[in-house]
Amino acid sequence: MDIKQLETWYLSNHRKLSFRMTKNPYHIWVSEVMLQQTQVETVLPYFERFIKIYPTVEALARANEETLHKDVEGLGYYRRFRHMLKAAQIIVDSSGKRFPDSYEGLLALPGVGKYTAGAIMSIAYNKPYSALDGNVIRVLSRLLANDSDMREEKHRKSLDQYNQKMIESSTPEIYTQAMMELGATVCRPKNPKCEVCPLQRECIAFQTKTVHLYPNLSPLNQKKHEHYVTLIIHQNHQIMLRKRTESLLNDMYEYPQYEAESIEYVLSMLDDQGVQLSLIGEGKIIQHVFTHKVWQMQVVHVKLTGNPMNDWISVDSDEVKQLPMAIAHRKIQV
Ligand code: SF4
Repeated sequence: MDIKQLETWYLSNHRKLSFRMTKNPYHIWVSEVMLQQTQVETVLPYFERFIKIYPTVEALARANEETLHKDVEGLGYYRRFRHMLKAAQIIVDSSGKRFPDSYEGLLALPGVGKYTAGAIMSIAYNKPYSALDGNVIRVLSRLLANDSDMREEKHRKSLDQYNQKMIESSTPEIYTQAMMELGATVCRPKNPKCEVCPLQRECIAFQTKTVHLYPNLSPLNQKKHEHYVTLIIHQNHQIMLRKRTESLLNDMYEYPQYEAESIEYVLSMLDDQGVQLSLIGEGKIIQHVFTHKVWQMQVVHVKLTGNPMNDWISVDSDEVKQLPMAIAHRKIQV
C-alpha cells in the first residue's frame, strides 16, 4: 500500500471533527466508545456536550450512573457507558491515577477491546497498533480483493495482521485516522468515490471492476421479532415506569411492557398477581429495530385502580423527560 499517498491525502482532505483535533487519550476514548455502532453526525453533539460535563477522567469517575445514562440517552447500547464509568473509576482508583498509556493497560479496562486500544495507542500516543473496524475491513478487502468471509474471526485476524504491518511503516496517528476517514468518506459501503481515492492505482477491486463484491460478509441471522403490549399506566395524574433489570437496556426506564399478543392476556395475567387495571384506550403500534431484534409495541393506556407491581414507580409526566429512557420508549407519545 502506498502509505505516503494515503497520509498526504488525509492531511489535506479530512473532515475537521472535534474528536479528531485532540491528542487527549481520554477524549479519544470517549469518542471511540460513542462511535461504536453510531454515526459520526449523531455522535458529534453528544461528544461535545459530554466533554463539557465530564472534561476529565476524574470528572467521569465521579458521575452518577443514572445521570450519565441521561446524558447519553439516544445513543443506544448503554452497556458501553456503564463499562466506561467503571473503567474511569478503576483509572482514578489506581495508584498512578493516570490514563493508561500501554496497550495492555488499556485492554485491562472494562469494555476496551483491541480496536479501541489500538485507536487510542495510535491516535493519542502515535504508537503502531492496528485498529481494525468495519471501515478498515472494507477498505482492505477491496484493496487486496480479499474475498474471505469477514464475519469469520480468522479472516478478520489476517486483515488485522496486514493492517499491523502497514501501521508499522507509517506515522501511526495519521495512518489510523486516514484509514478510518477513507472508509467513511471515500471507500463507502455504497457508491464508493474511487475517482478521488488515493489508493486507486493499487486497488485490485477497482482495477478489476469488482468493488461491489467486497467485503464478503455472509448474511446475518434474521432479526427476531418480539411483540409487546406496552402499558401507559395512569394513576392520579402520574404515570408508572419500571427500571429495567434485563441486560438489554439495563437500568434504563421504560413503560411496563409484557411480551404478549393481546391486552386481554396482560390484564388477566396482572389481575392474577393482584394488580387491577382498567382499559382507557389503545394507541399506535410502535416499532423499534435493534441490531439483533425488532420490538413491536402495542401501546395501551390503562388506569391503575389498586396497588402497583413492586417494581413500578410512579412519576409526574414531566419527570418522565428527566429520567434516562431508551429511544424505543421515548418514541411513545404519552
Ligand atoms: S479505489 Fe475504490 S474500492 Fe479501492 S480503496 Fe479506493 S475507494 Fe475503495
